[in-house]
Amino acid sequence: MLYDFHIHSCLSPCGDDEMTPNNIAGMSHIAGLEAISLTDHNCSLNLPRVKKCSEAFGIKFIPGIEVCTNEDIHVLCYFETLEICLEFGNLIINKLPRIKNKETIFGNQIIMNSDDKIIGNFDYLLLNGCEYSLYETVSLCHSMGGIAVYAHIDKNSYSVLSVLGTLPPEIHIDGVELYHLENRSKLINQGLLSKDMPYMTNSDAHYLENIGEKEQHISSSNPLFKLLEK
Ligand SMILES: [Zn+2]
Ligand SMILES: [Zn+2]
Repeated sequence: MLYDFHIHSCLSPCGDDEMTPNNIAGMSHIAGLEAISLTDHNCSLNLPRVKKCSEAFGIKFIPGIEVCTNEDIHVLCYFETLEICLEFGNLIINKLPRIKNKETIFGNQIIMNSDDKIIGNFDYLLLNGCEYSLYETVSLCHSMGGIAVYAHIDKNSYSVLSVLGTLPPEIHIDGVELYHLENRSKLINQGLLSKDMPYMTNSDAHYLENIGEKEQHISSSNPLFKLLEK
């Protein structure tokens, strides 16, 4: 299956302004992707538009969000329906620090409709950690029927390993994302990752040309397959 389950839109301040709903869907179609997810930082407001545009191309869409916890760990949370993901997104927004975005420094946070018309700009900076801890984020995600995956565990910042140095055994995570697949065997050899842990790689695209560009590997045990079957 060709997929990309970690894509940012123009709502993420670090996402390019060209990452509009129609452009994301169109580029995913050109890249031959069969399934995608939009995972903006701490916010779900562009999901309805990207879902509509993706499905118009016949691309399966999984609603998602990349939560930044209060420990500055990125967790990808995926949900079965758009409605539940929007509800989860609202809970995260309510736990964001009320710090205004400075567009000239961090970038725009553009909310769009499916015609790529700007319908608003999100006020508070979405890059900050929310008030939820890692434990609370994963528990909340699970309580709403979602799937929680540690984002880019092999990166040196905003990853569970860079912050905690380990995958805490008390947190029942559903899988891990690797930025580079070759790091999986290294982490297993270092005793930092179990061979049985479901895994995947994604683009973490912030620019159109990055969508679907990475080699795509997803373990057959990955719980995201359950959402794809729905
Ligand atoms: Zn991230
Ligand atoms: Zn990301």
